[in-house]
Amino acid sequence: MKTAHLNNEQFTAYLLDTDSNPATAAHLVACVICREELELFRQSVSSFNSLTLAWSESRPAAQVRRAVPPPRAWFPGLVWAFAACLMLVERSP
Ligand SMILES: [Zn+2]
Repeated sequence: MKTAHLNNEQFTAYLLDTDSNPATAAHLVACVICREELELFRQSVSSFNSLTLAWSESRPAAQVRRAVPPPRAWFPGLVWAFAACLMLVERSP
């Protein structure tokens, strides 16, 4: 009779919550192959977590995006000239 061993999803669920599935826990007690595979899986996850943490810590901390200055008027002098013209028009009889 062929024994169905645990898969990666079951290993993940077990590592997240060892009490989540009694059948998985029972299989791990009885099956040395899956216990060894679980340990390798646990080491791989731990190694991945360590590597990603080291990578993120090696990144420069101040990679904050520079503030984008507010858009400027295309021709600031032209805006003032237009305002002056409006004032002249209002004052003219
Ligand atoms: Zn097994």
